[in-house]
Amino acid sequence: MDSMYVHIPFCNRICTYCDFNKVLIKNQPVDEYIDALIKELGQYDKQHLKTIYVGGGTPTALTVSQLDRLLKFMTEHFTVTDEFTFEANPDELTTEKLDVLNHYGVNRVSLGVQTFNNDLLKVLGRTHNFDDIFKSVNHLEKIGLTNYSLDLMYNLPGETFDDIDMSLKYVKELQPKHISWYSLIIEPHTVFYNKIRQGTMSIAGSLEEGEKYDKVIAGLDALGYPQYEISNFAKSEYESMHNKTYWLNEPYIGAGAGSHGYTGSARYYNIKPVTHYINNMNEQGSVVKEQLELTKNDQYEEEMFLGLRLNKGVSEVRFNEKYGLPVDAVYGDVLKKLTEKNLLKRKAGHIYLTEAGRMIGNDVFMEFLL
Ligand code: SF4
Repeated sequence: MDSMYVHIPFCNRICTYCDFNKVLIKNQPVDEYIDALIKELGQYDKQHLKTIYVGGGTPTALTVSQLDRLLKFMTEHFTVTDEFTFEANPDELTTEKLDVLNHYGVNRVSLGVQTFNNDLLKVLGRTHNFDDIFKSVNHLEKIGLTNYSLDLMYNLPGETFDDIDMSLKYVKELQPKHISWYSLIIEPHTVFYNKIRQGTMSIAGSLEEGEKYDKVIAGLDALGYPQYEISNFAKSEYESMHNKTYWLNEPYIGAGAGSHGYTGSARYYNIKPVTHYINNMNEQGSVVKEQLELTKNDQYEEEMFLGLRLNKGVSEVRFNEKYGLPVDAVYGDVLKKLTEKNLLKRKAGHIYLTEAGRMIGNDVFMEFLL
């Protein structure tokens, strides 16, 4: 394995749109969780990894000593050669916590900014404000950790096109190396979902959402951040190596409550609730809830779904090397149909979505179901 994801399922406040595996940190057995996580990580062989990504939840919700304990173990057990990313909330990235991350070799930070509009930040239920974003970036710059990503969202309730212009203006000012800019998805079991059902809140329809997406892509491109994945943009040499592991459908370790991993032929899923995770680790020595063996057809489908998210698309040579047969042997008819409809293109050994295809990406992906 070359990559590992580690999940910290705690947050200082629960955002109104969030359906990730997380709990309010107050009164949670956080130290016991770190102990269990260290036990889980210790079950893997000591090894070199190209990338580690610590996400959540909010990893920066941990205290300085909790961060220190976790990172000490992780870096003694695993060596990271290329990219070591930590997710952070702007108001939690204190100099003390940054010093710990820096000490253990974290070399990339993914900053959960979401929007620069304070009113929208309140609607989202975020704990940070506009000033916190600039303070945290200053802290990062001060210690020389300049490889950071700003995570943004669009199509928020009450958001205007001017809000997108405002975000683009601050991207230009801050010059991060990477931007993730996702459209808000209304997930069940969230405050937003209930408000929309009750008719007390609304978001723009798909036409306006598409216009905003176009504005994001064009605006970032003009600032020197070409799109490389449906929702991701980067300066040259700064595409996220870790996330490309997922899109290139390569194996990775998943550790922590609710995380999942991929062996190359099976996907495994860890137990989600924090207390069950801790108890299972302590009593049974395992936190895997289920392991799904993938059929060859499952693997072909995933290769296409994931790879087509990348602007470069799916490499025909890699497909052949991985599965021992040309992609046309599995998808010849589908590829012909979608290229004739101008939803896909084939060029220089790659299959990728056209602009029209990207607008209806999910419909295109469905065509690859076997
Ligand atoms: S901080 Fe992130 S993980 Fe936590 S509730 Fe908000 S969006 Fe969800």
